Amino acid sequence: MTFSVQRVREDFPVLTREVNGQALAYLDSAASAQKPNQVIDAESEFYRHGYAAVHRGIHTLSAEATQRMEQVRLKAASFLNARSPEELVFVRGTTEGINLVANSWGESQIQPGDNIVITAMEHHANIVPWQMLCARKQAELRVIPLTAEGTLALEALAGLLDAKTRLVAVTHVSNVLGVENPVADIIRIAHQHGAKVLVDGAQAVMHHAVDVQALDCDFYLFSGHKLYGPTGIGVLYAKEEILQDMPPWEGGGSMIATVSLTEGTTFAKAPWRFEAGTPNTGGIIALGAALDYVNALGLENIHAYEQTLMEYALAGLASVPTLTVYGPSQRLGVIAFNLGQHHAYDVGSFLDNYGIAVRTGLHCAMPLMAHYQVPAMCRASFAMYNTHEEADRLVAGLTRIHQLLG
Ligand code: PMP
Repeated sequence: MTFSVQRVREDFPVLTREVNGQALAYLDSAASAQKPNQVIDAESEFYRHGYAAVHRGIHTLSAEATQRMEQVRLKAASFLNARSPEELVFVRGTTEGINLVANSWGESQIQPGDNIVITAMEHHANIVPWQMLCARKQAELRVIPLTAEGTLALEALAGLLDAKTRLVAVTHVSNVLGVENPVADIIRIAHQHGAKVLVDGAQAVMHHAVDVQALDCDFYLFSGHKLYGPTGIGVLYAKEEILQDMPPWEGGGSMIATVSLTEGTTFAKAPWRFEAGTPNTGGIIALGAALDYVNALGLENIHAYEQTLMEYALAGLASVPTLTVYGPSQRLGVIAFNLGQHHAYDVGSFLDNYGIAVRTGLHCAMPLMAHYQVPAMCRASFAMYNTHEEADRLVAGLTRIHQLLG
């Protein structure tokens, strides 16, 4: 099948909107992607005709809902090429998944004097839970620094890893620089030192296929809402032998085997042990529709289209006077920049007036802002429904702002 961006755009109703009298150019999908009708319809169809609480009853609707939820677990497992659906836990999103690992695996495994290695380009979601864990455990947080170009200074890795390193937590793709990290190499080196590896895939899974078995990562995470699915649902993958050993994190219904006021509680097996309470079944079903949608288009087609668009946008942006683009030229999805000395908020407001939606601010990556010594950045992100014409509008808009503001 050939990839047709016009055909894809027809599935996304919001893209026909006008903003400030202009056609919307939505360049903020790295924050959250828009949803196709197929996803919106799947969720509303479930609430209209199929809704019931899962797990709890033998009545037909409940059994159907449970089955549909477990089918999505299977779909997500095949999306990541996990060995088994039982390696996947439904979580609210990447943030909750990382906190689950920190509070369950980390709480039980990290000892005083151990260390955890992260990188200087992590999203706060992959920094703060580790800082909190290290503070609780008197463990040390170590950081892989960045090169001037905005890639990981991997030669520093060997010096950071030692017998006390228990975990390396790294983003697959940076949400600011768009750089794809060599996670397979990092995983191999970390494993040689006996450390586990967590990969934050929030900015990766929508741009190309991910194979957790080929990567051999121990944990992998993504959020549904950046993959054209709904908010409030995401996936934690963990190798089965690790997940089955992890203690429960949140207690409640659905995660138990038996509860006795005198004998205490025994827990369900993973992944259900980590899914206390009534799950976001509507979100799970809509996530299944998002996976179907992306699979039908083919991630290799999406990747090829997005790469041509990205190169085109970068070439255009090179013509904008005083524009600084951060990070290496090889990138996925995002382009972060500043125009002269103008604050990102001012530039973003002008672009909004032209109907162009970009992200402005710290991008939940304050250490990265400190690295570049800037108070903020603008970030344009490109998804499979963006067009070359929208890239042209971004370039023209920035050129105009430069002319107006100097
Ligand atoms: N990691 C990265 C790289 C991200 O871009 C994001 C979302 N901006 C997150 C983690 C957190 O994802 P969520 O807010 O969906 O939990």
